[in-house]
Amino acid sequence: MRFDILTIFPQLLDSPLQEGIIRRAVAAGKIRVNIHDIRDFALDKHAMTDDRPFGGGEGMVMKPEPIAGSLRAIEKKNPGGRVIFLSPQGRRYTQKEAERLAAYEHLILLCGRYEGVDERIRANYVDEEISIGDYILTGGELAAMVMVDSITRLLPGVLGCGDSVENDTFSRGLLKNPQYTRPREFEGYTVPEVLISGDHSAIAEWRLVTSVQQTLQKRPELLTLAVFSKEELQILKKNKLLEAVEQEQRG
Ligand code: SAM
Repeated sequence: MRFDILTIFPQLLDSPLQEGIIRRAVAAGKIRVNIHDIRDFALDKHAMTDDRPFGGGEGMVMKPEPIAGSLRAIEKKNPGGRVIFLSPQGRRYTQKEAERLAAYEHLILLCGRYEGVDERIRANYVDEEISIGDYILTGGELAAMVMVDSITRLLPGVLGCGDSVENDTFSRGLLKNPQYTRPREFEGYTVPEVLISGDHSAIAEWRLVTSVQQTLQKRPELLTLAVFSKEELQILKKNKLLEAVEQEQRG
């Protein structure tokens, strides 16, 4: 998968690509990330990428020509990418959105700054607007990296264990079960006995039960998306969770 990121602060995007799973995905050729400095396409000798808003008012607006120039250069070399403008006014980014966008081969992420970009870019060059949440960032770069990170880990062969994605929080309308590691005792607190019992079906049951309990407690609205097998419904019934789950699912 190919990502092209357009920014006026290219250095901001360096380090997230140089660590952990994302670095390995780049090294293995699972993703290719090209960072473009919008300033390279500025038309004047001062390389201006922003200007005062027409009609007055506070702040600066990103000029359209350098952005259009960057987008055209990408399109010329690698046509057909989907252009996404990171914007607080966009569609809210969720795990489902990450799954949808992971199906594209080429995403072009446009990072705004200041008061945003000239509306003619949004209207004529952008395929969709995405917001990573209802708050205002100083620029779209961190939002772009949130997308690169969350999409990359969904790509086949990027995570070591295929299971990790399927059981993730949000992937099936449930929060993930609690996790423990060594030591068995930490400051007098022990890990649940079942996890060291070696009984795989008891462990699977514990994971389902704690996952449903956490979801009921912290994010009950997610349960409307959860679908349970016959065996899982029996486990929920046995653990007196079925009624609460069904109540959430009825709304
Ligand atoms: N004045 C704009 C408004 O009120 O809608 C906000 C501009 S913001 C300071 C500058 C840039 O940061 C935006 O153009 C966008 O690219 C990015 N940005 C800010 N918040 C974001 C969010 N929640 N999701 C995605 N991008 C965001």
